[in-house]
This record gives sequence, C-alpha cells and structure tokens, in this order.
Amino acid sequence: MITVTLRLHGDLLPLVRGGGKHLAPDRLVRRLPAPTSAKDAVEATGIPHCEIGRIESTGRPLDMADSVGDGACLDVFPTAPQHLREPRFLCDQHLGKLARLLRIMGFDVAYGADWSPPEVARRTVNTERVLLSRGRAILMRRAIVAGLLIRANGVDDQATEVLQRFQLAASVQLFGRCGLCNGQLKTVAKHDVADRIPPLTARWLDVYYLCDSCDQLYWEGTHVSILRDRVAAIISRAG
Ligand SMILES: [Zn+2]
Repeated sequence: MITVTLRLHGDLLPLVRGGGKHLAPDRLVRRLPAPTSAKDAVEATGIPHCEIGRIESTGRPLDMADSVGDGACLDVFPTAPQHLREPRFLCDQHLGKLARLLRIMGFDVAYGADWSPPEVARRTVNTERVLLSRGRAILMRRAIVAGLLIRANGVDDQATEVLQRFQLAASVQLFGRCGLCNGQLKTVAKHDVADRIPPLTARWLDVYYLCDSCDQLYWEGTHVSILRDRVAAIISRAG
C-alpha cells in the first residue's frame, strides 16, 4: 500500500464522495494499492476524471496515466468551463427529462431509456459524445474521455449545469430538435400539414415544425410561453 495526499482546488471539495463536509480541501489522505496512477489516486476521492482539469505534483504537471509513488502530494484542479463548438451529448438512462429538454433547446442528445450502463459507455465512446450522468462509476471508466457529473436534481438546474460547463448559453435554439427522437425540426408550410392541426389551433397559429426523423408535428401553442420563460431563466442562470 502507498499513502497519497491530495490538495483539492476550486470547487472540487463538494464532489468528494459523501459531499466533503468536515474535510479539509488541502489534505485528503488516501491509502492506495501500489502501483497506482494519478487518475486512480484522484478517483479514490469519488471525483471522476472528467471533472479534473489538471493534476500537479510539486508544480510539475501529471498525466492521468502517470504513476504515483508513496508519499506523493498532488494538487488537483477542476475542469474549467469550455465552449463546445459542436456539442453532441449522450444522457444516461436516468436523465430522460434532461435529454428531452436539451433537444428542445436545439442540442444533439442521444438517449435510450433501456440502455444499460455498459451500453451507455459503449455508445458514448463509439459516437464520440460527451456523457452526461449522475453516476460516478460510469464517468470513471477510462474510455470516457469527456463527461459531466450532473449535480442537480431538478431538470432545469441540470440544463443550467450543461450550459455553464460547455459555455452554450448563446447556442440555444428553441425548437431545434425533436424532444422525442433527437431528429431535426424544420418549419413546414401550414397547408402541407393542415389535416393534422386541430381546427382551433389552425385559426390562430401559422408556424409549425416537423421532425425530419419521426414526423412528429410541433407548434408554438400556449404552453410554449411557459417553456420560453423556463429556457430564458436557464440561459440567464448559465450566463
Ligand atoms: Zn422526432
């Protein structure tokens, strides 16, 4: 066994398994089997590697795979918010509401309610997506290169976390994608879908969207003003 001391910087302490209460951020001591990697030493605290921006040992940067010896003292820094130019996400099987909301906000989000954790991991890797999960274990898999540990319980706060981490407040496009299947929504001429519009709706609405994948029809009914307010609040909190 070896003993490693970790000094957590930024807002990492609350991510320690158990919430980090009553712990000093500058002295987390972990007993680990030798030999071990910097990744394993940090993850022994419960913080997945995707939440780590960099690790230093006496001022020298370490890679995740670098080995760590007995008595090492590691400075651990959080991942900084970073703008994703072409965001492509995958939500784990517990984040269906978040997947639907992000899609309606225009983001490309893969999700399957029946995907097991190994399938979630496999699909994330094969499709080179960013994994959004509340599960630490899946985010600790070595193959997961990019991910975000979702902290919040409420779906609007979860979406705020995603916009903040990946600097996406300016990229929101309401009615960009289909909440059901992730297909892209296109505006459609009213007369082309006239037989699918309830008569009362057709009287006062002229803008309709059609999913190019599952053919679901959308329109900006009265419920959309509530959605617009929700999304505006999410953007405001993320900004
Ligand atoms: Zn669809």
